[in-house]
Amino acid sequence: MNFAEIISDRYKIAEILDSDDPAVAEKLYAAAYEVKKKTVGECVYLRGLVEISNICRKNCLYCGIRSGNQNVHRYEISEDEVVAAAKFAADNGYASLVIQGGERHDPAFCRKITYVLHEIMKIKPKGGEEHIGVTLSLGEQSEDVYREWFEAGAKRYLLRIEVSDRVLYGKIHPEDSLHRYDDRLQALVALKKCGYQVGTGVMIGLPFQTSLNLADDLLFFKKLDIDMCGMGPYIEHTDTPLYRYRADLFPIAKRMDLSIKMVALLRLMMPDINIAATTAMQALDSLGREKAIFAGANVLMPNITVADVRADYQIYQNKPGVGEDAALTSSGIVEYLKEKKIPIGFCQWGDSIHYRNRKV
Ligand code: SAH
Repeated sequence: MNFAEIISDRYKIAEILDSDDPAVAEKLYAAAYEVKKKTVGECVYLRGLVEISNICRKNCLYCGIRSGNQNVHRYEISEDEVVAAAKFAADNGYASLVIQGGERHDPAFCRKITYVLHEIMKIKPKGGEEHIGVTLSLGEQSEDVYREWFEAGAKRYLLRIEVSDRVLYGKIHPEDSLHRYDDRLQALVALKKCGYQVGTGVMIGLPFQTSLNLADDLLFFKKLDIDMCGMGPYIEHTDTPLYRYRADLFPIAKRMDLSIKMVALLRLMMPDINIAATTAMQALDSLGREKAIFAGANVLMPNITVADVRADYQIYQNKPGVGEDAALTSSGIVEYLKEKKIPIGFCQWGDSIHYRNRKV
């Protein structure tokens, strides 16, 4: 198979995604793993994930914490709890933290993030890094807010485009001024301008989504020249409008295969970026993260959110780790990786090499 030829052609990429031949998948995964080994190495980097709040101004048609879902108990964890999670991360050999939450624009929330960033920057992780590396994933914000948070110490930002096709974007979001494709795109441009390592991603296996859409998503990442990517299977949630299309979805195994193939193809297309093995992959398949890692992923985000709010951050149902505390999730992941003989990049930021390369 000539992968160099395949990855530049949307029809050939779609053909690989559509293929049910296990031999094709095996070859793809092996090629992607080789590229990963040569460029970013075999280590998996850990980022402790803190789900800071499920309060959200958006009403996305797929998401369990959409503003219109009345069945959600809304929460926000305190500054002290976020800082305590950062200390937990440092004590447990992670040098990085991801702060994720619903999209909020209230000034108090913006100030809270700035404050916790300043506090977190004072924490010294084990090993050589001078402070904890922070990734934010807090939705679309103004360029000024992005800059304020960057100056307060955040160096990476995750903002999934969700789907790169404008028409499909319109089908999975309400048609109003809060959910505009162009604004999402503009936010990604603003993040780059501020100097962040920029991550984006898509959901895989959505209603109405075709394999050509997915091929175009990969080409979109390449064109945007992203530094990081987090993508995973779409998982239906009963309290969302898209739930009514559940009978049209691909079976779980197919959504998983597509997700792992997307990781492998992206590794071949963008050898030096960071690619996450996401929680949604684990939700659909207990071996999902391992499969992603052996197909080219190099980042894992163990949930270190305090146990008592985890059940409230159900963007999709049956999310793993609900009811666990940080210590349990964390030791579980480390044991899992050790058992699979996957080396862990303890105490290192594990920055995107692509970012470094594009800065020189
Ligand atoms: N407010 C932040 C974080 C959103 S939650 C932001 O806008 O970036 C993180 C991600 O969860 C989303 O970007 C989306 O891709 C994913 N997600 C939401 N609902 C999902 C579902 N039903 N199945 C799978 N992934 C989902």
